[in-house]
Amino acid sequence: MQPETKNIAILGSTGSIGKQALEVIRANETVFAVEVLAANSNADLLIEQALEFNPNCVVIADESKYHYVKEALKTSDVKVFAGNKALAEVVEMDDIDMVLAAIVGYAGLESTIAAINAGKQIALANKETLVVAGDLVTRLAKEKGVNLYPVDSEHSAIFQCLAGEFHNPVEKIYLTASGGPFRGKDKSFLAGVKKEQALKHPNWDMGAKITIDSASLMNKGLEVIEAKWLFGLKPEQIDVIVHPQSIVHSIVQFTDGSMKAQMGLPDMKLPIQYALAYPQRIKTNFKRFSFFDYPQLTFEQVDIKTFRNLALAFEAMKKGGNAPCVLNAANEIAVDAFLNDKISFLQMSDIVEKCLQTVKFIEHPDYDDYVLTDKTTREAAVLMI
Ligand code: NDP
Repeated sequence: MQPETKNIAILGSTGSIGKQALEVIRANETVFAVEVLAANSNADLLIEQALEFNPNCVVIADESKYHYVKEALKTSDVKVFAGNKALAEVVEMDDIDMVLAAIVGYAGLESTIAAINAGKQIALANKETLVVAGDLVTRLAKEKGVNLYPVDSEHSAIFQCLAGEFHNPVEKIYLTASGGPFRGKDKSFLAGVKKEQALKHPNWDMGAKITIDSASLMNKGLEVIEAKWLFGLKPEQIDVIVHPQSIVHSIVQFTDGSMKAQMGLPDMKLPIQYALAYPQRIKTNFKRFSFFDYPQLTFEQVDIKTFRNLALAFEAMKKGGNAPCVLNAANEIAVDAFLNDKISFLQMSDIVEKCLQTVKFIEHPDYDDYVLTDKTTREAAVLMI
């Protein structure tokens, strides 16, 4: 029997993940249907997507674009909403089976929590949700019977390695890192790098924020914290290994010493499709791996002395409480400032470190504490620029 069509809400449909998710859906229109599309301010692309996929509704977070989108879609059946409140409300719609959380940064937290509260299954790309409030989000998901399916390629790899092994104890996991464009460079080199260099990732084509995070290794730090919450691990069970070819997407080591790795060419459509279709594997015509194109797969120790962000993320994870929330907020401000040529590459870590030292520590934060921590950290970070 043909399984029923899965109705998907894509929050962040105009971004790198959102667009690739729509490619997956376009190629599998009997398996998936688009129920909601949401973006921040890219009205033209949102309109184009709505006209192609005919969702029940679209949300544009930037309210000043509401009339423009409404006018463009007036001859269609697509409902149009605007603002952050609408974003958190549409995810409750009955017909949605799964929400793809693909907004970038802290901005994705509220709508993801609203979707979990409404009992929707989540395909999670927005790692910042778990970095900021992993404790609260995973507890809520458990309470509501909601699964968080990882979209991040490393976490998808761990999830795929754990299939059929969910009750077997894990000794540790190795998250692989490409090392980014500045692998092997020292601090004196990093001091002078420009955003144009940092925006050139060797293996992945992604949004600007995650690309800078990848160059500074903050992305790996955020992923370490994400992994802790997704897989219920202790900090000492998570390790990072540099693997420049990005073919081995991550590795699980079980208590008998056996290791399982998931491999494939670097293409985000694969983990996106796995999360959307789970537990099914859908046939694709994505390019296949050839051993002869990659005669060597290599692994190196990560340089956390040069790339301090990774060390800071491990510290914040070990400290717990609101420390990862501080780390994330400070980093968002720092990345934005770097992208606007206001600070240097290395100053990003300085800002994160100073915020971790100065923003008030809360050991057991609730939702309001996270909101306040995010706000105070941003204010503190802006003053450091
Ligand atoms: P992009 O910057 O490419 O896209 C971000 C999306 O979020 C856009 O649709 C943007 O809308 C929307 N958005 C931004 N701010 C808001 C807001 N305040 N309200 C509503 N929508 C908003 O990011 P990516 O697709 O690269 O990344 C998305 C998430 O996925 C991040 O958390 C990232 O870490 C994670 N991820 C990404 C990977 C990748 O390969 N790109 C890999 C693994 C994880 P608009 O276009 O209108 O600005």
